[in-house]
Amino acid sequence: MLRAIDFPTVDHRGPEFGTLGKNVIAGMKRVFKSTQGEVVIYPASGTGAWEAALVNTLSPGDLVLMYETGHFATLWQKMAAKLGLNVEFIAGDWRHGADPQAIEKRLRADTDKRIKAVAVVHNETSTGVVSRLAEVRQAIDAAKHPALYMVDTISSLASIDYRHDEWGVDVTVAGSQKGLMLPPGLSFNCISSKALAASKSAKLARAYWAWDEMIENGKKGYFPYTPATNMLYGLAEALKMLLDEEGLDNVFARHQRHAEATRRAVRAWGLEVYALDPREYSASLTGVLMPAGHDADRVRKVILEAFDLSLGTGLTKLGGKMFRIGHLGDFNDLMLMGTLTGVEMGLALAGVPVKKEGVQAAMDYLSGCAKAPARKVA
Ligand code: PLP
Repeated sequence: MLRAIDFPTVDHRGPEFGTLGKNVIAGMKRVFKSTQGEVVIYPASGTGAWEAALVNTLSPGDLVLMYETGHFATLWQKMAAKLGLNVEFIAGDWRHGADPQAIEKRLRADTDKRIKAVAVVHNETSTGVVSRLAEVRQAIDAAKHPALYMVDTISSLASIDYRHDEWGVDVTVAGSQKGLMLPPGLSFNCISSKALAASKSAKLARAYWAWDEMIENGKKGYFPYTPATNMLYGLAEALKMLLDEEGLDNVFARHQRHAEATRRAVRAWGLEVYALDPREYSASLTGVLMPAGHDADRVRKVILEAFDLSLGTGLTKLGGKMFRIGHLGDFNDLMLMGTLTGVEMGLALAGVPVKKEGVQAAMDYLSGCAKAPARKVA
């Protein structure tokens, strides 16, 4: 994929570019599970696609219902407030996903339909907790509420099963740097016809993020401004790997298998998986809680220095309290075993009292359970 990014940059107004643009938009529609919606690709990080979702559909002072699943849900909520939206943030404990019942209750109480959007983070990257999106959709329907449904899939798309149309999502937000296996730099909105209709009357100011010109140009594979052409070469290659060579369902199964092996290792060390509800375990990463009196960032530093292995830090209120093991993207059994071995050795080096049985538990699981078919390299 990095070699694909290396290709010489073509004229983004020329014929070759149109073919590339149409190809990646069509491929992304398949990743959103064959959506009938529109897909817009921004030369931006995920934060840009967050902003695009809000400014294209909402007006100043609109009420938005968001759910505190962790650090990233908190940042999205802060952004909404900065944009002049009126945000109601349902408090969460960070160890559970968005509670569909709490959302339904709040929507039922909104008899004059002031809430214009419900926004949820699918996979909370800060904690390794997944929200049950189909159940949130059912909650919105049960309350017979017309609010738009917005979902951040930055660390779930192409890693964890996700269905834009089937789950009735109106705007999906995604980024290039996780399941799509690319460097940071591209982000996406997948847009339902309901969201598109809302964008016609939405009043928040928008220019760079405006969907209309992006969608109009996108029909022929072009952009209204200079696209990140080389990233799109990489995206075309990533789509080939995910859709044609391995198959999305096999990718999801591979990630689930690695997540289960990781959780077994964590428990065999005598440590705690941060996510509490097995229905909400993340397949892309595992948050690991440190025993009281041991600083997770010190352990991360020891592991980085001794083994050149970089683990995710605990964010905001979890600083020092947990570390995160990523197992998403182009990742295989031996890469996972290398990672878990580094963690086990590093925990011991840092003097954290753990049982040296985690690597063995993960190996037993991986060698005993069926592996998804290997990627067919075209
Ligand atoms: N949402 C989630 C779930 C994320 O994990 C991230 C970044 O990791 C973001 C939003 C913000 O995206 P970015 O840092 O690409 O702007």
